[in-house]
Amino acid sequence: MSILVKGGLVVTQNWKREAVKGDVLIEDGRITGVGHVKARPDEVVDASGCVVMPGLINCHTHVSMALMRSVADDVKLEKFLDRTFAIDAKRTAEDIGVGATLGCLEMARSGTTSFVDLYYSEDVIAKSTEEVGLRGFLGWAVLDEKFTTQKGKPIKNCERFIREHKNRPLIKPLVAPQGVYVCSDETLMEAKELAIKENTSCHYHLSETRFEVYEYQKTKGKRPVDHLAEIGFLSKGDLAAHGVWLTINEVRALAKAGVGVAHCPTSNMKLASGGVAPLPEMFNEGVPVCLGTDGCSSNNGLDMFLEMKFASLMHKANRWDASVIPAQKALDMATIDAARCVGAEKDLGSLEPGKKADLVILDCSIPSMVPTTAENAVANLVYASPSHAVRDTIVEGKFVLRDRKFVNLDEGALLRKASESAAQLLARAK
Ligand SMILES: [Zn+2]
Repeated sequence: MSILVKGGLVVTQNWKREAVKGDVLIEDGRITGVGHVKARPDEVVDASGCVVMPGLINCHTHVSMALMRSVADDVKLEKFLDRTFAIDAKRTAEDIGVGATLGCLEMARSGTTSFVDLYYSEDVIAKSTEEVGLRGFLGWAVLDEKFTTQKGKPIKNCERFIREHKNRPLIKPLVAPQGVYVCSDETLMEAKELAIKENTSCHYHLSETRFEVYEYQKTKGKRPVDHLAEIGFLSKGDLAAHGVWLTINEVRALAKAGVGVAHCPTSNMKLASGGVAPLPEMFNEGVPVCLGTDGCSSNNGLDMFLEMKFASLMHKANRWDASVIPAQKALDMATIDAARCVGAEKDLGSLEPGKKADLVILDCSIPSMVPTTAENAVANLVYASPSHAVRDTIVEGKFVLRDRKFVNLDEGALLRKASESAAQLLARAK
């Protein structure tokens, strides 16, 4: 099966960061040509007046929490956690599946083709991800047994999930030690060993709030990253979410170990946990940085275009420097840098021959995208309101969203179901 996406403005994200007028040829799920392509494809898709770009990669979320959108707003973190944990305790496997489907629909509509998830019941989430047709890097939460509501040992559940899902085309299973506040050193090292044994990586929360870091320091006598470096937990290719409260030595320890950071500006600002992740220092020291929305109860959406904008604005405001995190760097963090952070730079993150055909087509004839040119396209993608412009979303050469409609799904029915499930869940949690 071959598709020629014809006559668009292609924001390639190749090493030269070229934006070129032209075509993208897709054959059997991979990109085989970019630019002026001569081919006899099975199908031609008109992309004139459109931007064609790599699908965005959301590097930290809890997708099924889409069902818990806006359940705890404008309150302190402690109250937020009390409220979300109380609702979470009442959730059924069906709620998790319905929530994950809702989150995947939202991501597909806003140009995200891949996401990194941290939760339990990832087998249910994998099913929803595959049904919608997105790519999931799904981390099963591992934590000390005394803290979990999971049935059975979390590490064993994670191991089973990995074994059952490691050969699926759209799913990459990960090990997700939830965070140092619920994981003993023993649990962390078990998680690391499992990741090594199964040839995958770890995804975890790290140093999100000052409170968490100070509490940890009180009991362990060390800051989290210093301690994790000392016990040999930090591993190349692992991905830490947040990384807000880090010293320069901790930033260096992450760089030395090759651990990436998923920066979640909206969630950090909304929960008012204070502080701003030291991104300029991470860039200087060589820490790979990507972006994540976090879950829908702390964001409250999954729009990666907004995440790029907020990432850029947050650091400009914080450093009094309009040149810090320019639009191009924000786009890099959501595409090519993100692909590196999830160990998929050979397949994802840019539109180049040989890569998987995960791409998004935006109709730039809507008011917020006029004018769009080769010169301003990247700025428009980051600072304008591009998610309204998403027309088509393609994952591995297959249309998920086409002409703003889901190809294989009854979106209306799924959204009605999500509304009902959310109402029932909230009623149970009252
Ligand atoms: Zn999170």
